[in-house]
Amino acid sequence: MLQGDIASCTSCSSMKPWRQFGQEAYGNAATGYLLVGEAPGYVSWRNRRRFTGPAGMLIRRALWQVGHPRYQDLEDLFYMTDVVKCHPAAPANPSSNRSPRRAEVESCSEHLARELRVLRPSVIVTFGKMAAEQVGRAVAHASPWQPPWRPTILTFPHPSPRNQVTILKTYPSLRAFEEALAQTFRRLIAGLEAQSPHA
Ligand code: SF4
Repeated sequence: MLQGDIASCTSCSSMKPWRQFGQEAYGNAATGYLLVGEAPGYVSWRNRRRFTGPAGMLIRRALWQVGHPRYQDLEDLFYMTDVVKCHPAAPANPSSNRSPRRAEVESCSEHLARELRVLRPSVIVTFGKMAAEQVGRAVAHASPWQPPWRPTILTFPHPSPRNQVTILKTYPSLRAFEEALAQTFRRLIAGLEAQSPHA
């Protein structure tokens, strides 16, 4: 089983004690929408819920703005994952966050590729340069498969407050960034409603 295999993976000794998420943290695969971040932060891992640290809460607030009764939170609208599945902490401080190392990204790339192959999402929303690059790579490798599969990939900057400089190169304010996300979520929900208006 996909999430079970990830949860038992110990490929990266640098991730010891391998703080992965349980199966319930992956959200909803049935919508065909996939959300991909860089790596789980400490707060999210501690909460056992993805995207619940300061960066993830910006994404959640954007969906709350939409206020749809069936898609109230990210777990309702997306299957959620990360390029690197374990929480990367500095060795001396288990509650810290660090960027994933290249070797960890490479090691975890097969998990992401497998998620894409199994789920074949119609839309993939990425946050941050690393997620956009790794998703692009995985899709390119999978695309010759039959039947043809061409997901729509929507890329956004990493929503961390520490990434404000990059975010403000594209959006006039953090508020505008959040609104752009809300607009995207509205469109995705409208797409689901159009497929099954009485679901
Ligand atoms: S980061 Fe990925 S490849 Fe490395 S131990 Fe965790 S699940 Fe396995």
